[in-house]
Parts: sequence; C-alpha cells; structure tokens
Amino acid sequence: MVQKAPIVVLTGAGVSQESGISTFRDAGGVWQKYSIEDVATPEAFARQPDTVHAFYNDRRRKLQDTGAIRPNAAHEALARLEHEWPGEVTVITQNIDNLHERAGSQNLIHMHGELLKVRCNTCGAVQPWHEDVTRRTACPACANPDTLRPHVVWFGEMPFHLDTIMAKLDDCGWFLSVGTSGNVYPAAGFVDRVRAVGQARTVELNYEASGGAFDDARHGPATEVVPAFVEDLLKA
Ligand code: NAD
Repeated sequence: MVQKAPIVVLTGAGVSQESGISTFRDAGGVWQKYSIEDVATPEAFARQPDTVHAFYNDRRRKLQDTGAIRPNAAHEALARLEHEWPGEVTVITQNIDNLHERAGSQNLIHMHGELLKVRCNTCGAVQPWHEDVTRRTACPACANPDTLRPHVVWFGEMPFHLDTIMAKLDDCGWFLSVGTSGNVYPAAGFVDRVRAVGQARTVELNYEASGGAFDDARHGPATEVVPAFVEDLLKA
C-alpha cells in the first residue's frame, strides 16, 4: 500500500463536549463556575491546596463515571483514522480526560497532562491515580505526605512534550484542529507554525470559526463534522 503523508490532529475541550465534559470558555463552561486564579495556577495550589485538590478530585470522580462520560463519535472517528490511514496519525490533545485512549487512539500526546495521574513535588514520580488526593495522602514512591499534585499543566507552566510536538508539526502533510477555540498558547499557534513550513493542508473542525488561519473549515458539532471528514479522508 502506498504510504500517505503524516496527519497531526490537535484536539481541545470541544471534542469532549458531547461526552458530557464542560468546555473551557463556552456558556456553561468550566471557567464560568471557577476562576482560573482560584484553581489552575501554581500560585493557587500554594495558596489554597485544599480548594485545588477538591476541584480536581471532583473532576476525577466524574471522569470515572464511565456510564455517564463516554467517548463519542468524534473520538471514535479519530481512532479509526489512526488505524486505517496508510501513514502516521498523531493526536495531540489539550484535554486532560482519557476519552481518546478509551476510544482506541494509541499514538496520543497529552500536552496538558492527565487527570488520572498525579505527580510528586518531592521525588518527581508520576503515577496513575484514581482516588481523591488530600494533603494527608502520601506519595507511594517516597512516602512523603502533602506533596502530590495533579499531573496537569496549569497556567504559567510549560506544556509537556513540546520538542516531539514541534517535530511532528514540521513533518505533517495534514493538520486538523478539532474543538479548540485557539485561545491557549502555544497550542493556538500550531496552525501558524504548520503554515510557515508550508507543506501541510490545515483544516479546522469546530463548532464555530475560531479565527485561526486554516485552508479549510467545517463547522458543526464534533460528532458530526469529525466522522464525516475522516470518512472523506479515508476515501480520497
Ligand atoms: P475552549 O473551551 O477554549 O474551546 C472549545 C472550543 O470547542 C470552542 O471553539 C467551541 O466553539 C468548540 N466546541 C464546543 N462544543 C463543541 C462541539 N460539540 N463540537 C465541536 N466544537 C465544539 O477549549 P480549548 O481550546 O481546548 O482550551 C484549552 C484548555 O481547556 C486546555 O488547557 C484544556 O486542557 C482545557 N480543558 C480541557 C477539558 C477536557 O479535558 N475535556 C475540558 C475543559 C477545558
């Protein structure tokens, strides 16, 4: 079979919206209920660790209600694309949920971390985590209490795996941006980097126009536009 150009897919909160997880900035989104300064910065964690732990404990519990929160047709279509495209498909997600992996995506980069992991501020160990965390919880690796934090990237912190991501962006032939408003950098700048290299077709699949400079766009719910676009790509 003839190999085809690598595809990079950037996903954001919009891909999980129809799975029952609030987006970031839309009406009813997470940040209309909480302020960023209260729960998603290193300073907030230093100032009020109990509040930050409670916020993430709540989200972690909800994510594990697997009856209520399930991968949707968009996650499933992206997993199908990875398995059927005769070339590399990489999903780079800004989401901290686990819906891409539950749908079957394997070549997946969590650039903003994962809700179901914790990291130790003392020894640096990163561990899968499914329970609540409090200041009394001891790190399983070094046994210190009051040292675990969510393994997520907060505002003001550096996203994970940026070197790998940049190499994938520079090498791709397709760049798909799915369910992201293009407000959070550096992810919001990925399309400009891909366009500067000039070898990939850039496509936005989002509920509405984000304002980014894409070659092509299909607007609508992710569960409709993503499966339809994947079908077209695989037929082409
Ligand atoms: P955002 O909320 O800023 O933007 C979401 C975008 O998705 C908007 O452009 C909106 O029009 C679109 N959208 C909403 N519902 C949609 C649907 N059903 N189908 C298609 N598009 C839809 O989110 P963002 O750009 O991902 O913001 C980045 C930050 O939000 C990241 O740091 C991410 O970690 C965080 N976040 C993650 C989750 C999650 O893990 N599921 C949830 C909320 C926020």
